[in-house]
Amino acid sequence: MTQPTTYQNYINGTFESAREHLEVYNPATQALLSRVPESGAEDVERALAAARAAQKGWAARPAVERATFLHRLADKLRDNVARLARVITEEQGKVTGLAETEVNFTADYLDYMAEWGRRIEGEIIESDRPDESIFLFRKPLGVVAGILPWNFPFFLIARKMAPALVTGNTIVIKPSEETPNNCFEFARLVDALELPPGVFNVVSGSGATTGSALTASPDVDMISFTGSVATGSRIMASAANNITKLNLELGGKAPAIVMDDADLDLAVNAIRGSRIINSGQVCNCAERVYVQRGVADEFVARMAKAMDATRYGDPLAQPDVEMGPLINRAGLDKVARMVEVAQGEGAELITGGRIADLGSGFHYRPTVLAGCRQEMAIMRQEIFGPVLPVQIVDDLDEAIALANDSEYGLTSSVYTRSLKHAMQACRGLDFGETYVNRENFEAMQGFHAGVRRSGIGGADGKHGLYEYTHSHVVYLET
Ligand code: NDP
Repeated sequence: MTQPTTYQNYINGTFESAREHLEVYNPATQALLSRVPESGAEDVERALAAARAAQKGWAARPAVERATFLHRLADKLRDNVARLARVITEEQGKVTGLAETEVNFTADYLDYMAEWGRRIEGEIIESDRPDESIFLFRKPLGVVAGILPWNFPFFLIARKMAPALVTGNTIVIKPSEETPNNCFEFARLVDALELPPGVFNVVSGSGATTGSALTASPDVDMISFTGSVATGSRIMASAANNITKLNLELGGKAPAIVMDDADLDLAVNAIRGSRIINSGQVCNCAERVYVQRGVADEFVARMAKAMDATRYGDPLAQPDVEMGPLINRAGLDKVARMVEVAQGEGAELITGGRIADLGSGFHYRPTVLAGCRQEMAIMRQEIFGPVLPVQIVDDLDEAIALANDSEYGLTSSVYTRSLKHAMQACRGLDFGETYVNRENFEAMQGFHAGVRRSGIGGADGKHGLYEYTHSHVVYLET
């Protein structure tokens, strides 16, 4: 058995020992993997001070020079895919293939954001006055606090640090207490690049201690957070004291609409894939289905068969599984409770509906619930597990109205062969993203952003990049 690793915070270009530690466990085996710093306010302040001290010098470099660090980091990631993927799988539980995709995608993302180095543009605006020019510059905000979730922990580092760094900000990252190991491995690769000290820092610890210290600090210019609505709301309250800029990605309850005229093979494959990827713990994936009456029975039967066939288990012990464990006991209990409540409210269990006893690990059987109704908690609250509730609708108007009747508004999808239906859905759905006849997964050049309680601002592409800047308008009279 391998010994647990002890990780250290990465502050001002140095790995530092900590006084207090948290333990990190493998959700498939419950084996102790590591001890990581439980950082207090003092550690957070030092990291922020280092980021502040480094920021002006970093911003003074040409963007293309800042971008070269991201390109070099991407190369290092690609040289270490298998090792990094294993670290991610060990602490997070996703299957190895998906962990490798996460590492490769992260490398591509770093390259993509680095390519903006030569593309950051301001504006020249027509003046009302003769002899005056109006310029709009884009400038870095300063110091960014990046607070990460555990579901795509490695990618989320880059999703926050790459646009922050290329636009001239510095950053302090706090990983989730569930998945900090991959972030320290990322920091080790950053350290080998000889990035100026203080530009990139990592402090681990719990949300209540380390996270709160970051969000309460007046020395943070932007908080970029991905996680739950409840925590997002707490962070907003904390940020209000200092009027700190916020970028919040707070999850979703993505509806998938399946019309009578859909290609059912495609719909079943895509929605099933969307529900089992990362054991259903993905903010943008199908969380509720509205299926048109004419194909409802066939859809449910095929979906149940497909879900039933899913191979699950410990991804490191059984490399051919399609699904690993849930992140922790609380996550597993929450999913089990939601299914029980749904059945109590009248939902019909078609398949699954049970914790899977594999000897160890937080596994839940892939589950399909039919006969669901909009008022049920399972149709309204984020499940974050491999459970698919299905409700029958009569037409597209009804499906769109039910889809929009949600406190979340991140992603949505529609399956139809009719262009008219597809366009009607795109016009009617009030969401940040809609996928037509495909699985729910966003592109790095798009813009991942939600409406309603799914968040404020967004990530990726040009719009995501500019979230990390502020405008500075100059009026030049000559
Ligand atoms: P949280 O939102 O609580 O945690 C996300 C991050 O915020 C973690 O780094 C956490 O720290 C930190 N955090 C927690 N409390 C505070 C605080 N007061 N101030 C600052 N930072 C804080 O998510 P959970 O991990 O508890 O997951 C709960 C649910 O959230 C899931 O079941 C799912 O529904 C949703 N979720 C959504 C995600 C998405 O992609 N949008 C991702 C993850 C979860 P730490 O974990 O170290 O305590």
